Amino acid sequence: AMRGEAIRDAHGTVIGLRGTVQEITERKRAEAFMEGQRRVLEKIARRVGLSEVLVDLVRLVEEQEPGLLCSIHLVDGVTHTLRSGAGPSLPFEYMRAMDGVPIQPAATGPCCLALQDMKDVLVRDISADDRFAAGWRDRATASGLRSVLSTVVRGAAGVPLATFAMYRREPGNPEPVNPQIGSVARQLIAIAIERDQADADLRHAEADARLLQTVGAELLSETGEERLYRKVIDAAAVLMRSEFSSMQMVEPGRGGDTELRLLASRGFSPQAERTWRRVRCDCATSCGRALKTGRRVLVPDIERCPSLAGSQALETYRETGIRAVQTTPLISRAGNTVGMISTHWNRPYVPPERDLRNLDILARQAADLIERKRNEEALREADRRKDEFLAILAHELRNPLAPMRNSLMVMRLLEKAAATGEEPLRGVLERQLHHLIRLVDDLLDVSRITRGTLQLRREPIELATVVDHAVETARPLALERRHEIHVTLPPEPIFLQADPVRLAQVLNNLMNNACKYTEPGGQVWLSASRHGNEVVIRVRDTGLGIPPDRLGNIFDMFNQVDRSIERAQGGLGIGLTLVRRLVELHGGSILATSDGPGRGSEFVVRLPLLQRISEFERQARPDVRLLPSTVATKRAARRTLVVDDNVDSADSLATLLRVTGHEAMTAHDGLEALAAAERFRPEVVFLDIGMPRMNGYDAARHIRQQDWGRDVLLVALTGWGKDEDRRRSADAGFDAHLVKPADSNDLLRLLETLTPATSRNKTG
Ligand code: ADP
Repeated sequence: AMRGEAIRDAHGTVIGLRGTVQEITERKRAEAFMEGQRRVLEKIARRVGLSEVLVDLVRLVEEQEPGLLCSIHLVDGVTHTLRSGAGPSLPFEYMRAMDGVPIQPAATGPCCLALQDMKDVLVRDISADDRFAAGWRDRATASGLRSVLSTVVRGAAGVPLATFAMYRREPGNPEPVNPQIGSVARQLIAIAIERDQADADLRHAEADARLLQTVGAELLSETGEERLYRKVIDAAAVLMRSEFSSMQMVEPGRGGDTELRLLASRGFSPQAERTWRRVRCDCATSCGRALKTGRRVLVPDIERCPSLAGSQALETYRETGIRAVQTTPLISRAGNTVGMISTHWNRPYVPPERDLRNLDILARQAADLIERKRNEEALREADRRKDEFLAILAHELRNPLAPMRNSLMVMRLLEKAAATGEEPLRGVLERQLHHLIRLVDDLLDVSRITRGTLQLRREPIELATVVDHAVETARPLALERRHEIHVTLPPEPIFLQADPVRLAQVLNNLMNNACKYTEPGGQVWLSASRHGNEVVIRVRDTGLGIPPDRLGNIFDMFNQVDRSIERAQGGLGIGLTLVRRLVELHGGSILATSDGPGRGSEFVVRLPLLQRISEFERQARPDVRLLPSTVATKRAARRTLVVDDNVDSADSLATLLRVTGHEAMTAHDGLEALAAAERFRPEVVFLDIGMPRMNGYDAARHIRQQDWGRDVLLVALTGWGKDEDRRRSADAGFDAHLVKPADSNDLLRLLETLTPATSRNKTG
């Protein structure tokens, strides 16, 4: 740059020139560099493609320093390799050879060494530096390169993003005269790369969010399960940037433990699919371990995973081409592990936190999907069992009807003839009726269970009485089938706080099953023993046994192992459901075991013992319901009134009372009952509750208000047996509450307990 001016004399005549000549090459160069930087930054801001920006940057640096040749290599953090970024002045062959080299071995060149040591690497004479493999040195010298300075480009957080290398065609230190140039270039490279990564991350995040949204929406649709599983594993592979993915469902395994069943897989070889169709929790695979721990399992490199070493799983991974794997448990809303979702990579890999968070969202949706499938399956299964149950029920209920109808017909035909032949017919009727009552009772109990209204009437009892009763009840069937029954009880009494009727039902059922499901001539054992605060009751047989895969659901409603056998025995498949529920209501548990078909079965009931024995002794009283049923012989005749709107019921009970030596009248609603009682002055009134005109409660209250009614024994005879119902009947003035169909022996015994009316002193 030159500046000059004329020098003039007093008259204005030019007498000389004065001026300065300035060397401004450096300034111009600096200005051009600044301008170059501005252009690069502008391109970055305009989101021009990364390669173009990097090429511009390299050119900009090279312009500053003649003879300088630069290259940029990007660090691929996922594959841990170098990717060629820009090197417009270097031979194409040289750049290509560097593309994709693993960062690990320093031998590949100074850029890898710089990254490995995280510091600048200066090579003053490439041909003579034996830190590097001959391959690289030959390639570099063949490209005319003699010296290089490799530097690391770091991002804002200090992570290596790239290498920036400066070469020259002569030995020495190739660094530019102005060291600023190199550091400015590195800063710009970092800005360009991070900007590009941020953009890519944003694009990925948007795409992932869109994907999750579409998958979520699709899973709500009703389309086939298979398709939905596929959607989920495809989405998992995209989200996790993996080559393989799979989804499994937790199922009860054959050996009683849990297993994983493959629902869908992507990228697996047929061999791998076969091997992993079912995976047990003791399997070394990531899903086996996730099943065991209930937590996500990450294996960044299967070759370096100690728990896989030497396992079959490792072999299958290798054969499939899997190098890294993660498995995430699918947790249902109720907190149960219902399945697994896995992704697999063909290279060592650690998925970034962000991808794992997305996978967790997908896992939520997948868990819902599996839960829905399970619920649907359970519903279908329940529905199927119910259908089957209804068919059996119809059959069972019809069975007793034919013999009863036939017997009645015969009785009518014989009516006019001598009364001979009537005895066996009555036996038929009684047995069939008993059978019907049992079926209907079980049905009622089952409906109480499903509605949650089954209630216990617990009191202190001694186990032996219940056991005796169960054995006596099972005796006829055991005799018929020629079984031997063995009972073992500890010498000291065992006290329980239990409902004697319900507990008897439990043992009766188990004993009955043991006799039913054992071929004639078998053995049945019933034993009880104390274990700490529990009594353990075992019912064992030498019978058909139970297949292991059925042990789990034998207690489910309507579940029968082999229809053909149960059909022959007559049963609804609800006995064990009742048993389990009753045991649980008592605070106990029940378990079935069997060594398999033909090897017998054992049912083990555990019940808590009564804690304070003294309590038992204070409350103990003979339990009429558990004594063998005998109709008392010595009996005082009572005046009774039977009130029931069901005429058959009223008449049959009145007949029974008359036959057993009592007087009996009937009435069929509350008002009629009051009138009859007024005239007849009964000592005992059996009153139905639900009746037309006036119900049983009101009738009872009325009777109690009369002078003659104060001492009458009022017995409610009703279908309702809940505590609430008993309280209501007591409030209305009833003395006793019997649930229909009441056992005739109980009824008659009640009459015996009645003290003469005159001595009864009711004080309220
Ligand atoms: P069911 O009315 O069919 O006897 P349960 O609920 O009592 O119904 O029993 C359910 C099923 O369990 C039976 O159908 C039978 O297959 C099986 N089972 C019960 N007890 C035994 C036993 N002691 N031995 C073999 N199988 C049994």
